[in-house]
Amino acid sequence: MRSVWAPWRINYILSKKQKSCVFCIKKTRGYKKRHYILAESKHSFILLNKYPYTAGHLMVLPQRHISELMFLKNNEHIDFFNMLNFATKALKKAIKPDALNIGANLGKAAGSGIGEHLHFHIVARWNGDHNFMPVVSKTMVISEYLDDTYNRLSPYFKKDYLNCNNE
Ligand SMILES: [Zn+2]
Repeated sequence: MRSVWAPWRINYILSKKQKSCVFCIKKTRGYKKRHYILAESKHSFILLNKYPYTAGHLMVLPQRHISELMFLKNNEHIDFFNMLNFATKALKKAIKPDALNIGANLGKAAGSGIGEHLHFHIVARWNGDHNFMPVVSKTMVISEYLDDTYNRLSPYFKKDYLNCNNE
């Protein structure tokens, strides 16, 4: 692995010492902006990865603390994949990437940092940027800070996801 200046990674490393799940977010005042949540549905939510390797790195998660796809109930499953689809569409509209990587690392051996709460990654890619999945193997320098990215993406995630899904 090449070394890259990525000071935000230290927060990630330190947060791993916490016992509580970082994805079971308490819904207190201002929680959406504080946790970079772009959209929420009854059973799922979309947020910016706080420790990205590329600008435009989102995650889609179930609200419920479960580790595997197979633990999603049927209505949660539908909701989750609708949100994944919505996030993909909104990200494409917002930043017009050349391509996307979408996937999940299930289990530590697969590269998962926080395996106990299921999450899918959506990573924006541009022609010539790098090899497959820099999320798990190599680092890249991001050119935008998180707040700027959040503010830029937010307007694209306002729409009711079910309506968007039926476009
Ligand atoms: Zn959790």
